[in-house]
Amino acid sequence: MKIYEKAPAKINLMLDVLHKRPDGYHEVEMIMTMVDLADRLEMEELPRDTIIISSQAGYIPLDEKNLAFQAARLIKDRYNVRSGVYIHLDKKIPVAAGLAGGSSDAAATLRGLNRLWNLGISPEELQLLGAELGSDVPFCVTGGTALATGRGEKLTPIANPPQCWVILAKLPINVSTADVYGRFRVQQIQQHPSAAAMQGAIESGSFAAVCNQLGNVLEDVTLQLYPEVAQLRETMMRLGADGVLMSGSGPTVFGLVSKESKVARIYNGLRGFCKEVYAVRMLT
Ligand code: ATP
Repeated sequence: MKIYEKAPAKINLMLDVLHKRPDGYHEVEMIMTMVDLADRLEMEELPRDTIIISSQAGYIPLDEKNLAFQAARLIKDRYNVRSGVYIHLDKKIPVAAGLAGGSSDAAATLRGLNRLWNLGISPEELQLLGAELGSDVPFCVTGGTALATGRGEKLTPIANPPQCWVILAKLPINVSTADVYGRFRVQQIQQHPSAAAMQGAIESGSFAAVCNQLGNVLEDVTLQLYPEVAQLRETMMRLGADGVLMSGSGPTVFGLVSKESKVARIYNGLRGFCKEVYAVRMLT
């Protein structure tokens, strides 16, 4: 039997770093939601005790470094599953882009294998398993819109933001999340975005208020390292996006657009600047 799972990309509507913890992780406050740009996973049971990953994307690891591999191994070990699995990753989410592509693949693998092997694992338990794989995986297990605290693994579901277009643009730069956090200094932050204000904006249903509250304290680090990302951000604003922000540690920059009539102009304008541009809807 073959099963399929969709693994959507996440964006951060706000991302604040409160401090660095003694365990080396950063204490964060983020509001995350999902957009309709997704990888597609195909999973098939194998009679042998093995995990095989394939993908059309030539630039991701296919061995135990792949997060889908790690998710499959975790669930097999924890639930004593003897059979194996073949997982094909049809990658659409840009890699190392701040869109949690690998985390979403891991989450989709957990959900998919729970179904394939009839394990009856609850969503809460799947999230706990996900937290062992990475800070963004628990959010990707359930999706929706959530306030994430701790190192990103403590989730409070909140209302979905008003529906709109999301234009994503990624320059051909691979940003390491660890590198960005390594260079980040909390004392240098002039103004912290507010999770409470963003949550209030979302709950008010006002698209303009959501655009006003967008903020990501990691932008300064990535934009200084890669001035072309700052230029891309400015271009997106100039082309008329209603709100613009870098997602996660970057380098993807996204623009929120309420009017469909503006989408083609912004998309085409960005294509002159950047090869990878996507215009999608929020997944709400
Ligand atoms: P995060 O913000 O969670 O670090 P990201 O969106 O910036 O994620 P990913 O696309 O998840 O970045 O890729 C980060 C690294 O993880 C890449 O260097 C890649 O080699 C590795 N990786 C492991 N598994 C996967 C996967 N299934 N898909 C994409 N990358 C993967």
